[in-house]
Amino acid sequence: MKTLIGTALEPALYWLKQGEVVAIPTETVYGLAAHGFNETAIAKVFAVKQRPRFNPLIYHVATIEQLYQCVAAVSEDVKSLINAFWPGPLTLVLPAKQTIPLIARAGLPTVAVRMPKHPLTLELIQRLEAPVVAPSANPFGYLSPTTAQHVYKMLQGKIPYILDGDTTHFGVESTIIDCSQKPFRLLRPGAIEKETLERHLGYSLLWETNQIKAPGMLKRHYAPHTPLIITKEPETFIQKYQGKVAIIDFHQRWHNLKDVVAYYKDLSPQGDLLQAAQNLFVTLHEIETKKLQAILTDWLPNHGLGIAINDKLRRAAH
Ligand code: AMP
Ligand code: MG
Repeated sequence: MKTLIGTALEPALYWLKQGEVVAIPTETVYGLAAHGFNETAIAKVFAVKQRPRFNPLIYHVATIEQLYQCVAAVSEDVKSLINAFWPGPLTLVLPAKQTIPLIARAGLPTVAVRMPKHPLTLELIQRLEAPVVAPSANPFGYLSPTTAQHVYKMLQGKIPYILDGDTTHFGVESTIIDCSQKPFRLLRPGAIEKETLERHLGYSLLWETNQIKAPGMLKRHYAPHTPLIITKEPETFIQKYQGKVAIIDFHQRWHNLKDVVAYYKDLSPQGDLLQAAQNLFVTLHEIETKKLQAILTDWLPNHGLGIAINDKLRRAAH
């Protein structure tokens, strides 16, 4: 299959209607989309990604009407979150409508839904007149794509079209919260800060980092082929690997080591967490091309977007 990249919406719309999967831009990372009510198309998403069937997908809607095609009930609390954060990188897990294909929700009674904030993709979903399911457009367990070129590199030949909507804004996935029971639980930290949600809700979200509560919250994920090591002592590893390592720095902590390693990138020399999130996957993709022995990094400050970035680092290093 020949894979085309373009900014035109029509080919994406055409292929989705044909039951094919296409890559779409969002404000978080690129997604691999299929028509949300076409089971054969949804099965192709799992096949293209080699994603295990127990890992449910996120429905992407363009309108509130489309939300009601997916979920059975929306409480006042949930409406208030929607008003505050949609369109945006907040995914809500809610009781599913019976009509949602079981394959998309891994047999669960709930479904994950969000409204992405990307003009091209919103228009696409609106014109399709149906929600799309869309996991990140990468082989399962590997780095998420933040540009159309990343998608092309990873999925070329496997999908007919990549809708190019520029570099993604956040560079990390959506925040997922389970609203199917109270108090709400954080399932995956992401682009919307945990603290922001808690301020809005007026209580702390339950969050169990080390338990796999949701299918798919696997310990190893987002992982580059080059081993990623989280350390306070980069010098030890630089010696061990004779400098054939990459350093991913933040806020110039290891600036003095810049010249003794094969690759050095500071995600944000000024210590800005959004900038760091935007640079994370781009940097990892770039390091992958260099065939080094290891990637050395340390935790970022564990607040705001730093929580989401640290979560990715933890899974990438596992
Ligand atoms: P992604 O891997 O970015 O496609 O995000 C999908 C993730 O959303 C899955 O790995 C699950 O962790 C979560 N998810 C989707 N649907 C549900 C659901 N019904 N219940 C709990 N978590 C879900
Ligand atoms: Mg993913």
